[in-house]
Amino acid sequence: MKFALAALLTLATHAPAVHGFGVVGSRLARSPSAFHNTQRANLATSAGAFSATSRLSAKVDRLTEPNGQLMKDVDVFIFDCDGVIWRGDSVIDNVKETLAKLRKEGKKCFFVTNNSTKSRAGYKKKFDSLGLDVAAEEIFSSSFAVAAHFEQTKFLEKKKGKKVFVLGEIGVCDELDMIGVPWIGGPQDEGKVAPMQPGGKVEHDHDVGAVVVGFDRHINYYKIQYAQLCINENEDCEFIATNLDAVTHLTDAQEWAGNGSMVGAIKGCTGQEPNLVGKPSALMIDYIADKENLDRSKICMVGDRLDTDILFGQNNGLKTCLVLSGVTSEEKLLSDDNKVAPDFYADSIADFFVKASA
Ligand SMILES: [Mg+2]
Repeated sequence: MKFALAALLTLATHAPAVHGFGVVGSRLARSPSAFHNTQRANLATSAGAFSATSRLSAKVDRLTEPNGQLMKDVDVFIFDCDGVIWRGDSVIDNVKETLAKLRKEGKKCFFVTNNSTKSRAGYKKKFDSLGLDVAAEEIFSSSFAVAAHFEQTKFLEKKKGKKVFVLGEIGVCDELDMIGVPWIGGPQDEGKVAPMQPGGKVEHDHDVGAVVVGFDRHINYYKIQYAQLCINENEDCEFIATNLDAVTHLTDAQEWAGNGSMVGAIKGCTGQEPNLVGKPSALMIDYIADKENLDRSKICMVGDRLDTDILFGQNNGLKTCLVLSGVTSEEKLLSDDNKVAPDFYADSIADFFVKASA
């Protein structure tokens, strides 16, 4: 299938470009069950990766000769953001220079994050604030993936008059606005309290056709109850998760409960499994690969997490490189308990060049 790449490349921060979603949408819309089967397979792979009995016998190669090991075979780099490009609000040392060198060598760069609290436009502002020259079209957040999913599954056409309930922050809401999908919830429900007096009940909208659960620093019992009512009582109400990350990094002092905890709350009261749109599901890599008409063997996924980034790459036929600038230590990577082996590992993406000239 040929795609209108020019149209796709205009996909940025405003509505006229959203036709770009049609790429994956037109393909996946023909076989949504296949798409979801792929997601399930990916999740199964993810779960199995840590329960397998085989050892990570051959220790992973450290990136010592980046030209020979990596650069000659890779045309496109897909970077996770937190722990690879930045930590919190600080850019990681030498990242800016490394990205500039990659671009000078003609490498394409994309940035993928499971964090749904910002829209694509919101992340563009963050890149700008850190002095990183990145185009909005190079950024793929799980909030964007939610919108892509609704485009692919033709939510507006197939669920006429329906809306989305967002248990999450503004990033998902902004992305839904850009594709014209009506939503309720989001930041508007911050501070709402479920009525607990005798006879108290939460009234929910019976026209909610999908519930999206993304990371939400203001999650409360009202929101959980609302999501529960929509999924359990509304006919054909889809349950979507931006990601299932167990922990996340809100401060540099400790790990914090991630979106897996919020999705878990809704799973617990509905008995339903969500459709996952963020890493390690295939949706975002399918989108990027189709958009650029890429040979997956020429793409390298670079991340700091084994259970999302590296699995995401492996599940989708990409080369993988783990960097130690985020949450995974060298000790953990090389321990016998770890069953996920990236192709290479490095201290940070600065090693893509520094070691070559040493
Ligand atoms: Mg990360």
